Amino acid sequence: MNAEKTSVLLIYTGGTIGMLENPETGALENFNFEQLQKHIPELRQFDFCIDSYQFHPPMDSSDIDPLTWAKLVWIISDNYEKYNGFVILHGTDTMAFTASALSFMLENLSKPVILTGSQLPIGVLRTDGKENLMTSIEIAAAQNEDGTPLIPEVCIFFENHLMRGNRTTKLSAENFNAFRSCNCPALATAGIHIRYNPIIHELKQKRKELKPHYQLDTNIAIIKLFPGIQENVIKAALDIKGLKGVILETYGSGNAPQKAWFTRLLSEASEQGIVIVNVSQCTAGTVDMERYETGYQLLKAGVVSGYDSTTEAAVTKLMYLLGKGYSPGEVRLLMRQPIAGEITL
Ligand code: ASP
Repeated sequence: MNAEKTSVLLIYTGGTIGMLENPETGALENFNFEQLQKHIPELRQFDFCIDSYQFHPPMDSSDIDPLTWAKLVWIISDNYEKYNGFVILHGTDTMAFTASALSFMLENLSKPVILTGSQLPIGVLRTDGKENLMTSIEIAAAQNEDGTPLIPEVCIFFENHLMRGNRTTKLSAENFNAFRSCNCPALATAGIHIRYNPIIHELKQKRKELKPHYQLDTNIAIIKLFPGIQENVIKAALDIKGLKGVILETYGSGNAPQKAWFTRLLSEASEQGIVIVNVSQCTAGTVDMERYETGYQLLKAGVVSGYDSTTEAAVTKLMYLLGKGYSPGEVRLLMRQPIAGEITL
């Protein structure tokens, strides 16, 4: 790595990682990001340049929305040539949604965009934030021998794993290893050394120019099945004015009740142009609608397989494709193809 020329942009959106405990009240409060160096003096030991961009005011990630994603896309594309990599500090609650959305919105990305955060604030003695931040910066600056970035995609680094962003889900509100990528192996594991998985060499170095996308269509809904779900509930959801897409969270390998009213309502919605995507409630494994009769009837009702997609990736991909103004037929076709490594066929 040519340290003199290497630089990383640290974008601080908010979240636990940037908080300190108020000594009087004990409450967690955002601290001024400019003070980061004071709390992590180790940052000075990197022999390359680290600049920062702070959201004012910092956001709890529960408030992050498509407008914020567009802002992140804008910051990255505006600074794309200047930096070798980007680290986004983000609350953990919706980090998997943001990572998924950015993976679609930053088309042809060839530089690392690493999201990280922490379960304990940086100002707390046992914080996991310091480790997460330092390793993320190191990964964002890592290069191949020819000077190209090692990780040309949107990832989440947490605890000791680097994961493809659009494959992640937050699984624990308690443990330091809060995120999982059940259907895609970790791209790197950090211990004494950062060990990169050889599959990263298969990641295509896209030579095309970065194409930022800003427009998402949020006219979608998630319907999570449960035993006993009633016809009027499904009907009311599918009757929502302006609805263009639904993520149907089904059981196991994509199964749903075989009730006639259920299949009829889904068929009618599909015929009206509503795109319905089948994603499993299981965190590992894939939807296979041809495996059981209970899945096959969904296929016949026009439901599209989400394969091994996370709900986070399916939701943001649907928003992205609808935002591009594609017809329902085109959206159905593209939902079944990987466009940023989000599904395995
Ligand atoms: N509520 C916080 C957030 O997501 C939690 C965290 O940062 O871990 O912004």
